[in-house]
Amino acid sequence: MSDGKLALVNEIAYNGDLIVGYIDGSGSATVSNHTDDAEVSDIVKVEETISSRNNDRAVDVVKKGGFDRGRTVGVVEAVFDETIAIRTENGLVEVNRPDETIEEGYTIAITPSQTFSQVLNEEPIEITPKPDIEVDAINLNLGSDNEDRQEETEQRSLFLPENIENVTFDDVIGLQDAKDRLTEAVSLPMEKPDKMAEFDLEGRFGILFYGPPGTGKTMMAKAAANEWGSSDSFFHIGGPEIVSKYYGESERQIRDVFEAAKQKAEEEDEPAVVFIDEIDSVVPRRDRADETERRIVAQFLSELDGLEDRGDIVVIGATNLVEVIDPAVRRPGRFDEEIEFSLPDSGERRDILKVHSQNMPVSSSVDFKNIAEQTRGWSGADLESIVKKAGLIAVKEDRPEVHHEDFMIALERFDEQREAKRQQTKEVRQQE
Ligand code: ADP
Repeated sequence: MSDGKLALVNEIAYNGDLIVGYIDGSGSATVSNHTDDAEVSDIVKVEETISSRNNDRAVDVVKKGGFDRGRTVGVVEAVFDETIAIRTENGLVEVNRPDETIEEGYTIAITPSQTFSQVLNEEPIEITPKPDIEVDAINLNLGSDNEDRQEETEQRSLFLPENIENVTFDDVIGLQDAKDRLTEAVSLPMEKPDKMAEFDLEGRFGILFYGPPGTGKTMMAKAAANEWGSSDSFFHIGGPEIVSKYYGESERQIRDVFEAAKQKAEEEDEPAVVFIDEIDSVVPRRDRADETERRIVAQFLSELDGLEDRGDIVVIGATNLVEVIDPAVRRPGRFDEEIEFSLPDSGERRDILKVHSQNMPVSSSVDFKNIAEQTRGWSGADLESIVKKAGLIAVKEDRPEVHHEDFMIALERFDEQREAKRQQTKEVRQQE
């Protein structure tokens, strides 16, 4: 069962189902009504079913009424080039700026899917924030009472360290240069703090991992956290997930991640690793960014600049697209160590295949060298997936071990899939 999402009731269908718009802007849906008294304009908690959105059900009325025919009413707090920020009962919300004139202080209505609806008045109305909804609208974990809710929300937040007990540098095949440079960048300041101070080199800086997807960037960051800290000192920020559309929310999340990492590092007296995956989505070039993104970059830079006071935190950013990152982030003193992750060579491909099949019964017929030769240009992640596919084929065929032939079938299927994907991309491009 999911934790529940907040939605606004727009209509009640003839069969009693509710037609709702999700407050997080993820669209509208028809959900079955398991509440006693949901009415149009109420906010309900919807439990999602994994199988199909059509089975989602409203289980609780979280707030009665207060909205204008299913729309949210709010007061414009700021007008940006492309968006406007609106204060509503549910906190600050950002929607695309419409063509018509909008000024700060206008009272406007927005639709449940968070698009501009209409100007209601050029004067502001009074908005009373609902603290419980303000928090939950973001994290969406509703307990039975307020305190539970607050606590659960905190526990579920993005900022819990991930357990990475099993990943070590030895598991990462190849990439020796990356390992050496990473170790040097982090170990020197740890081992020789006085010397670093003497040479005016204090303060932690960030390390940027760049290279094609699936080349072990995340894996290496986890191994690093394990190597230097405890197994729960790895804080993972998914770039695209943190770029929330709620006004001010992304900045708060970034602050909280750094705060949580700092606490962990202090508690354990060992460094914590903050890993930002797809960092290009968090800090795109400011000249190409919109208002929201510019604010996020600014928050991020201020966190990086404050690192000296933050205890032992190693910040690692990963990207496939190094050139789209804001140059200010790559400046010395911030992310001034850049480490390239390249695709594995033939020998490394063979070792990656071996490592990922080490817990599988493998027939002596399997020639890893031969498979490695046939997988030029493949990433570690691709190779891991081919091992799994070959294993599945062996299981399907009721074989006691995986055979070379299974790998060959898996390779063929993989190639077919790749070709189909390439074809699709080509078609989409042609249509555009
Ligand atoms: P990235 O972060 O660069 O996109 P990941 O670290 O998430 O890539 O890699 C995905 C998976 O591929 C890893 O969990 C691991 O199983 C496998 N993999 C990738 N590179 C390597 C490598 N050099 N050695 C061993 N396994 C690898």
